[in-house]
Amino acid sequence: MPTALETLVKILRLEREQHCRDTAVAGGLGAYSKVWEPDALRQARNDQQKELVEELRALMQGYSGLGNLEARTERVQYMLDRIHARVRPESRRNTSRNKGGRTADRNRREQKTGKARRQGRGAKSGREQGRRSRRSVRASRPDIASRVSLEQPPRRQHAPVDPAVAKARLRELEQPLTVLQGIGEGRAGTFARLGIHSLADLLYFLPRRHDDYRQERYLGRLEPDMRVTVVGRVRQTTIRNVAGGRRDFHVAVEDESGQLDAVFYGQHWLTNQIRNGDLVVLSGCTSAWGSRLQMRNPEWEPLDPENLQTVGLVPVYSLTEGLTQRGIRRVMRDVVSDKTRDLPDPVPEATLERAGLADLDWALLQAHFPEGPDHLRHARDRLLFDELLALQLAVLENRREWQSRPADALAMPDDEFAELQSGLFPFQLTAAQQQAAAEIREDMATEVPMNRLLQGDVGSGKTAVAMLAMLLATQADRQAALIVPLSVLAGQHFRNLTELITGLPEDRRPAMALLTGATRGEERETILADLASGALDIVIGTHALLEEGVEFNDVGLVVIDEQHRFGVEQRKSLRGKGRNPHLLLMTATPIPRSLALTLYADLDLSVIDELPPGRGTVQTTIIEPVARERAFSFVATELACGRQAFIVHPLVDESENPDIRAATGAWEELEKVFHRFRVALLHGRMSVSSKDEVLRAFSQGDTDLLVTTSVAEVGVDVPNASVMVIEGANRFGLAQLHQFRGRVGRGEHPSHCLLIPDSKDEAARERLQVLEQYSDGFSLAELDWQMRGSGDLAGTRQSGGSLLQMAEYMTPQLVALARREARTINLEDPALALPQHELLAFRVDRLRDKRSDIS
Ligand code: ADP
Ligand code: MG
Repeated sequence: MPTALETLVKILRLEREQHCRDTAVAGGLGAYSKVWEPDALRQARNDQQKELVEELRALMQGYSGLGNLEARTERVQYMLDRIHARVRPESRRNTSRNKGGRTADRNRREQKTGKARRQGRGAKSGREQGRRSRRSVRASRPDIASRVSLEQPPRRQHAPVDPAVAKARLRELEQPLTVLQGIGEGRAGTFARLGIHSLADLLYFLPRRHDDYRQERYLGRLEPDMRVTVVGRVRQTTIRNVAGGRRDFHVAVEDESGQLDAVFYGQHWLTNQIRNGDLVVLSGCTSAWGSRLQMRNPEWEPLDPENLQTVGLVPVYSLTEGLTQRGIRRVMRDVVSDKTRDLPDPVPEATLERAGLADLDWALLQAHFPEGPDHLRHARDRLLFDELLALQLAVLENRREWQSRPADALAMPDDEFAELQSGLFPFQLTAAQQQAAAEIREDMATEVPMNRLLQGDVGSGKTAVAMLAMLLATQADRQAALIVPLSVLAGQHFRNLTELITGLPEDRRPAMALLTGATRGEERETILADLASGALDIVIGTHALLEEGVEFNDVGLVVIDEQHRFGVEQRKSLRGKGRNPHLLLMTATPIPRSLALTLYADLDLSVIDELPPGRGTVQTTIIEPVARERAFSFVATELACGRQAFIVHPLVDESENPDIRAATGAWEELEKVFHRFRVALLHGRMSVSSKDEVLRAFSQGDTDLLVTTSVAEVGVDVPNASVMVIEGANRFGLAQLHQFRGRVGRGEHPSHCLLIPDSKDEAARERLQVLEQYSDGFSLAELDWQMRGSGDLAGTRQSGGSLLQMAEYMTPQLVALARREARTINLEDPALALPQHELLAFRVDRLRDKRSDIS
């Protein structure tokens, strides 16, 4: 978890990349400084650091007032330099002789001559200074970057290659690992367990992380909450028996500078692998344990002395039984240097030039064995760009295909449409709803099949818009289907719509049915028959609607709610039915717009970005675990007033991690605490029908308190629920927490969301504070993305492949870049028929074969 300073570094870098337009954080640096400062101050460990925080805050606040680009760039650079201790504070610098000597080099030189010490640094840092220069490069403090920096990746001119030769080269990479010397069937089988079958698989099997062995020997300088890799000699090992029969393995390691404890929960067998006197590498997060420092369940490996000689960062790969880090590094070192030589690059030269990206062979080499962090960053950018570009192009192709089959044009005159609207809803649609409805109506009025994603925060009224669209279809004598992930939701929508249409004149009311997994026997037969004959106009249901044997007479519109929960195969099966229907997908997952446009580039996007009037925001508060009882008594008060509440827990049972207060165990406890009320339990391992039952009881008000795991994220609409307590809140992503929170505040009652983290981690808290401040899902998603990468966002997971591996490094800039380049290529050469695009076409085809799940 990044500290406040690390987060700020990320933001400043982003700001610099975005040309200093004060766009790196929502609201600008000035506003962000107010969120940031308290955390940073809390984390500051001495007066000097506090001073630094104050200085940075002041600089952030004045930032938006800086008129020109130059001044802003300079300020960003200065702040970065200050954080990395490359320059002294402005105030002191001004009094020193070399005014304006801001560059890192000059300052480093100064430090060496000891000038810094004379200028009033404390005795301790003076000592450290001396030690540092004696130990030269090796012992640089971890927060001072002294690596080779690389502003731009190197590029060389590519000689034109005959596409046939190039393709042959690429096919060569499809060969099995057994063509490598020293790899027989057995070893190939080991690699196969990691999903590595071919040489190409191996090349693209990227390290999970990289370790910097030059940071060894600073155990004495570690502080709590640092994510680090350290080398130490084992001084003591113990097995401790804990209540419940668990046997923990404790290790104490040391180096010249200090000590560190590590504990491996329940892994007593490590006693055979880690022994006194061994040199081991530990990687993990430090935490304070009494007066000592501890790592809990760190990753570990025996020290390979070879790595100490490594100039760059050492790759760490995912392993499987029978494979060691050393073993896989050996194989990689050979293969990567050998097979990347003259590797044909599918991305056109022109694109690389425009985008300023690294060469492919260089990128692959550096992604495994980077010379420094900059190299690694450029390498990842290049590889990720490739994925994004191919994905974009594949998706553009899918779209072209989808729209090559016509749909029926379902038009409705303006006055009729207005009448339909006012007859249907007891309320006025919001402007955003009207806009979305207009876009949908426009799409449906043409023969090009609609392929639209309706994105809107929970409770923003997407369903209302969808219902309007369905009636648009039925008024044009076509059928409409609404598919949702859970039958309780299907039931909810069915009841809502049944009630809504009572506002329509009797002869214009559609005939409707509900079809779920629970619909059986005769009832099901009748519904199927009526769907096929056209006697039914609207069907609402679950996956059951996608089963074999469900035939529509004339389906004009299919709506899919919470679309990310549907596999693409299932979406495809819908397309296969009857003529090409118009398609409307709905999601409440607040994927940042730029990312959504990439992942769903074949979809048009409508966004509902305002909530219906009168909806108060959900008051969100972080509660310390010690104050849990107060939170509970607040819940009890609400329940006593007739409201309902949710308590969310991260896991179902305690087997996975002993630290987690988990739902089932907690349920029993909570039943006692809330014995005056009706408490129910809902978790993901329950059968669909019991889930439905529990949700139904809760939404009908038959239970008061729902203790649940993440299933609460599904769109149940219980306007009477006014409190949500989230235990272990730090374990959830912001987007997910926001989804949970959307379950309350759906009625007229003031609502609350209480977040109870189970860690003291500052960065986690900082993230949660963002939730306290922002109530809109889109700002949250952007922030989350910028602060942590996209790994957490639903929707990116399903893309699979190496995009998934690297998703956390995806930045809005990179996505935008790939998008721009894909469009450029697509405009120039939609069929990828030009010779310079031949390899790219080959690549995109392969992607489409492998992942029919795009679109
Ligand atoms: P979503 O599907 O986006 O989560 P819903 O369509 O379920 O949201 O709407 C949430 C609630 O708000 C429903 O009870 C719905 O009747 C109500 N609602 C929708 N649109 C409006 C509006 N324009 N004005 C008032 N209430 C609305
Ligand atoms: Mg909904």
